[in-house]
Amino acid sequence: MPSWFIKGLFSPVKTTRFPKQPETAPGAVPGRPVATDFTSPEQAAHAAAQCPTGAIRAGHISADVNLNQCIYCQRCARTEPPMAWKADYTWARRLRANNLTPQPFRKSLHIRIVDTGSCDAVIQEIKQLSKPYYNMHKLGFFITPTPRHADVLMVTGPLTHHMRLALKKTYDAMPEPKWVIAVGGCALSGCVFSRGFTSAGTVLESLPVDVEVPGCPPPPMAILYGLMLLAGRVGEMPSAKPTIMEKA
Ligand code: SF4
Repeated sequence: MPSWFIKGLFSPVKTTRFPKQPETAPGAVPGRPVATDFTSPEQAAHAAAQCPTGAIRAGHISADVNLNQCIYCQRCARTEPPMAWKADYTWARRLRANNLTPQPFRKSLHIRIVDTGSCDAVIQEIKQLSKPYYNMHKLGFFITPTPRHADVLMVTGPLTHHMRLALKKTYDAMPEPKWVIAVGGCALSGCVFSRGFTSAGTVLESLPVDVEVPGCPPPPMAILYGLMLLAGRVGEMPSAKPTIMEKA
């Protein structure tokens, strides 16, 4: 019997315990900036001025973050005083409460991925989901190469003119019922590419998105949580709800 097989039998399980237990490994949970209270309007304005994408909006003596625009540069975490940083991954949000996944689909969903012009960062994070640590197959999520077999359309990247028709054709080719999950800040707001000459708007404007997963790129745990949210197997965290400022 090969030695690697025997070693595997007696080694502890390496796969994340999520969703039975929260994931706490520091490398797997890099976190995100969150709304912060300061002691003066100047401090709030200073925090907002640090953000290169305008994701931080200063209030009177507080500052809020539009995660859809955040590129996770951590500049606001290194300024003085810093924005608060929360080490979680449960920030995916459900956008269409009237299109919930019915019971027969909850245990197993097939996903067609379309990259509409990304820098590939989000794709690299999605690839991690198939690796042993995240092992999304164990949770019933499978990538399919054809939209005909897909229940879920996962879209990454800012929507470019060249990919607009391909995205629409893919969505139209999927059988009903179908769901859309938009992954990454570029898909949600265009981020730094939103004003480029190739930009054709955002995925949010082009398709009926059911779940959004902000992040630049979102870590694998955030994407996995978004899939579980889409499947109706975890609830949305109250802290993930968009603020009035985020939707303005
Ligand atoms: S991490 Fe960077 S992009 Fe995100 S809110 Fe902070 S400064 Fe802005």
